[in-house]
Amino acid sequence: MFFRFSESNSGGSWWLSGDVYLALLQTGDWGLEASNVAGSDVLRREMQDLKHYLRHELVGQFDSIHAARASFESIANVNLDEPGCECCGRPFRITETYMDSAFVNDAALRAACEAITSW
Ligand SMILES: [Zn+2]
Repeated sequence: MFFRFSESNSGGSWWLSGDVYLALLQTGDWGLEASNVAGSDVLRREMQDLKHYLRHELVGQFDSIHAARASFESIANVNLDEPGCECCGRPFRITETYMDSAFVNDAALRAACEAITSW
Protein backbone atom coordinates (compact mmCIF):
# COMPACT_ATOMS: atom_id res chain seq x y z
CA MET A 1 0.00 0.00 0.00
CA PHE A 2 1.19 3.46 -0.82
CA PHE A 3 0.64 6.51 1.33
CA ARG A 4 0.97 10.15 0.44
CA PHE A 5 2.08 12.84 2.88
CA SER A 6 1.44 16.55 2.58
CA GLU A 7 2.09 19.50 4.86
CA SER A 8 0.46 22.92 4.84
CA ASN A 9 1.81 26.21 6.16
CA SER A 10 -0.79 26.32 8.92
CA GLY A 11 -0.02 29.32 11.10
CA GLY A 12 1.95 31.06 8.37
CA SER A 13 5.14 29.04 8.03
CA TRP A 14 6.23 25.56 7.00
CA TRP A 15 6.48 23.02 9.79
CA LEU A 16 9.20 20.72 8.48
CA SER A 17 12.68 21.68 7.34
CA GLY A 18 14.68 20.26 4.48
CA ASP A 19 16.72 18.26 6.98
CA VAL A 20 13.57 16.36 7.93
CA TYR A 21 12.78 15.53 4.31
CA LEU A 22 16.35 14.40 3.76
CA ALA A 23 16.10 12.13 6.81
CA LEU A 24 12.85 10.67 5.45
CA LEU A 25 14.50 9.96 2.09
CA GLN A 26 17.58 8.47 3.71
CA THR A 27 15.53 5.70 5.31
CA GLY A 28 14.54 4.52 1.84
CA ASP A 29 10.92 4.20 2.98
CA TRP A 30 9.85 7.56 1.58
CA GLY A 31 10.36 8.98 -1.89
CA LEU A 32 8.60 10.57 -4.84
CA GLU A 33 6.66 9.29 -7.80
CA ALA A 34 8.71 8.85 -10.96
CA SER A 35 6.31 11.18 -12.77
CA ASN A 36 7.43 13.95 -10.41
CA VAL A 37 11.14 13.49 -11.00
CA ALA A 38 11.44 11.83 -14.40
CA GLY A 39 11.95 13.53 -17.73
CA SER A 40 14.85 15.60 -16.56
CA ASP A 41 17.71 15.35 -14.12
CA VAL A 42 16.23 16.17 -10.76
CA LEU A 43 19.46 17.96 -9.85
CA ARG A 44 18.80 20.48 -12.60
CA ARG A 45 15.20 21.11 -11.72
CA GLU A 46 14.10 24.33 -10.17
CA MET A 47 14.66 23.83 -6.47
CA GLN A 48 11.18 25.18 -5.79
CA ASP A 49 9.76 22.23 -7.70
CA LEU A 50 11.63 19.73 -5.58
CA LYS A 51 10.55 21.46 -2.37
CA HIS A 52 6.99 21.46 -3.62
CA TYR A 53 7.03 17.75 -4.40
CA LEU A 54 8.65 16.81 -1.12
CA ARG A 55 6.17 18.88 0.89
CA HIS A 56 3.05 17.86 -1.01
CA GLU A 57 3.73 14.62 -2.88
CA LEU A 58 5.96 12.58 -0.61
CA VAL A 59 5.02 8.91 -0.89
CA GLY A 60 5.90 5.78 1.04
CA GLN A 61 5.14 2.07 0.84
CA PHE A 62 3.97 0.35 4.00
CA ASP A 63 1.74 -2.54 5.07
CA SER A 64 -0.74 -0.26 6.85
CA ILE A 65 -1.56 3.35 7.61
CA HIS A 66 -0.39 2.62 11.14
CA ALA A 67 3.06 1.63 9.86
CA ALA A 68 3.22 4.68 7.59
CA ARG A 69 2.30 7.02 10.44
CA ALA A 70 4.74 5.35 12.85
CA SER A 71 7.58 5.66 10.32
CA PHE A 72 6.86 9.29 9.61
CA GLU A 73 6.41 10.34 13.22
CA SER A 74 9.56 8.61 14.43
CA ILE A 75 11.77 10.00 11.64
CA ALA A 76 10.31 13.51 11.51
CA ASN A 77 9.72 13.69 15.26
CA VAL A 78 6.27 15.21 14.81
CA ASN A 79 2.72 14.41 15.88
CA LEU A 80 0.73 13.88 12.68
CA ASP A 81 -2.42 14.87 14.60
CA GLU A 82 -0.96 18.29 15.43
CA PRO A 83 -3.99 20.64 15.36
CA GLY A 84 -2.15 23.61 13.82
CA CYS A 85 -3.57 27.09 14.18
CA GLU A 86 -7.29 27.78 14.69
CA CYS A 87 -7.93 29.34 11.29
CA CYS A 88 -5.71 27.16 9.09
CA GLY A 89 -6.29 23.76 10.63
CA ARG A 90 -4.10 20.70 10.72
CA PRO A 91 -0.70 21.05 9.05
CA PHE A 92 -0.14 17.37 8.26
CA ARG A 93 -2.07 14.95 6.10
CA ILE A 94 -1.26 11.34 5.30
CA THR A 95 -3.59 9.10 3.34
CA GLU A 96 -3.53 5.93 1.29
CA THR A 97 -2.97 6.80 -2.34
CA TYR A 98 -2.78 5.44 -5.85
CA MET A 99 0.46 6.10 -7.71
CA ASP A 100 0.50 6.82 -11.43
CA SER A 101 4.15 5.90 -11.76
CA ALA A 102 6.90 4.05 -9.93
CA PHE A 103 8.32 4.92 -6.53
CA VAL A 104 11.68 6.72 -6.72
CA ASN A 105 14.28 7.06 -4.03
CA ASP A 106 17.68 7.12 -5.67
CA ALA A 107 21.04 8.77 -5.08
CA ALA A 108 20.22 11.68 -7.41
CA LEU A 109 17.04 12.50 -5.52
CA ARG A 110 18.75 12.32 -2.14
CA ALA A 111 21.64 14.47 -3.41
CA ALA A 112 19.21 17.07 -4.74
CA CYS A 113 17.42 17.17 -1.40
CA GLU A 114 20.71 17.40 0.45
CA ALA A 115 21.73 20.36 -1.71
CA ILE A 116 18.76 22.34 -0.42
CA THR A 117 18.66 21.34 3.24
CA SER A 118 18.78 24.94 4.40
CA TRP A 119 15.05 25.48 3.83
ZN1 LIG B 1 -4.15 30.22 10.63
